[in-house]
Amino acid sequence: MGLGHFGGGLGAVKYLLDRGAMVTVTDLRSADELADSLSQLDVSQLEALVLGEHRDNLFTRAELLVVNPAVKPGNRYVELARTVGVPITSEINLFWQHCRGKKLVVTGSTGKSTTASLIHQFLQAAGVPSRLGGNIGVSLLPLVDEITPDEWVVLELSSFQLAALDELRPRPDIAVVTNFFPNHLDWHGTLDAYREAKQTAVCWQTKNEIAVLNADDADSALWPTDAKVVWYGKECWRDRPGVVVGDNHLIVRSSSGGWKIELTDLAPYLRTPHGLMNVAAAFGAVTVALGIPVDKLAGALLNFQGLPHRMQTVAEIEGRTFINDSKATTPEATIAALKSLLQPAILIAGGKDKGADLTELAQTIRSKTKAVALIGDTATALEQLLTTPTSDHARSASALRIERCNTLAAAVEWAWQQSAPGDAILLSPACASHGEFANYEQRGEQFIEFVKSVIQ
Ligand code: ADP
Repeated sequence: MGLGHFGGGLGAVKYLLDRGAMVTVTDLRSADELADSLSQLDVSQLEALVLGEHRDNLFTRAELLVVNPAVKPGNRYVELARTVGVPITSEINLFWQHCRGKKLVVTGSTGKSTTASLIHQFLQAAGVPSRLGGNIGVSLLPLVDEITPDEWVVLELSSFQLAALDELRPRPDIAVVTNFFPNHLDWHGTLDAYREAKQTAVCWQTKNEIAVLNADDADSALWPTDAKVVWYGKECWRDRPGVVVGDNHLIVRSSSGGWKIELTDLAPYLRTPHGLMNVAAAFGAVTVALGIPVDKLAGALLNFQGLPHRMQTVAEIEGRTFINDSKATTPEATIAALKSLLQPAILIAGGKDKGADLTELAQTIRSKTKAVALIGDTATALEQLLTTPTSDHARSASALRIERCNTLAAAVEWAWQQSAPGDAILLSPACASHGEFANYEQRGEQFIEFVKSVIQ
């Protein structure tokens, strides 16, 4: 149920076909919308392909239902299957059950992909066999039998995937938590349900496993776990192993040694306050938890340029810096982006309404930007917050230039007109994409295109 790449639908189908299962695929989307996934599949091997709809009898007659994590809890068809006793699983569940490798899970509300990618590159640089998967890249499930017990599998896991793992009581060898902010409330229903799903990463761990936790995050630092904890954050623990984040350096202390890492030569994104937290989490996992000395990782750290669509500088035109932060799908990511900028900013923000509270974002926009172009569903709510003067911000609210734009192209053009040499023009939507774009990657790529074309 659900063929999308991201939920691993395609990987699950390939895996099951390889093992001789009789597979029916059903998805509410059309063949056109699923063209990419379908082109990677030999459709003639399927029992049936039912697109544009779900049918009751598929769900009541199945011997196993594999659900894409995008499907919301309480879905009528999943419940129908459950009532007639059909076992229900997911791609990540199948992977978890069959994977013989050591599992390092990275979760949190933001910074997962960056942290997981860094950890994977650190391990490879140190000559430790590692694979990267989960909510990043393609599904590892079709390869699961190749993975040997001495390999590390670095899994970025979303709350949807963790919710699906729940019944397995997973015990990752190492779990890394980046932070916790309200997100995906439209899917989980409540903040508690979202938190509970995320806590799955650490709550079944025992003292034989390790949790790498963010000491500065008031929420996730308190999550219950029996694991050994490695802390990272600005707090300084004199003699304890962990990673201390300074303004321009990190101090890494493990049982095998201590290092001070100067950050001057790092990629700009990693030098932002939130980028540094991602780097600290990665050292917490690789150096403190696994004991790999910092010297073996220095080259990989210097080479890491950040990932596309995360505070990615895409052009410098007539003194303006264009930054693509399309992956900022939460208010907190956009707040972090704005706080990390040293130059005056013109922001392009807005998108799908996931039910997030935008109040703090509006405050940060008021204090950190000179102009803001609003796009997508959340434009109305954001405009309202930005134009309602509060006692603290009455003056800055009136100085802020605000424009509602129907398209991203129009937003880029308007931002350019508002800009002056020395400004940053930042796409950091604070919301998921939809309507105009299939996903955040497409939104970011179109931003880059518009930057090139609008400015000519
Ligand atoms: P995720 O996989 O959790 O979405 P990414 O590494 O892809 O995380 O980053 C997503 C967005 O969140 C980017 O805009 C990035 O700049 C921002 N971000 C990354 N780390 C943090 C952090 N520790 N705090 C706030 N925002 C962050």
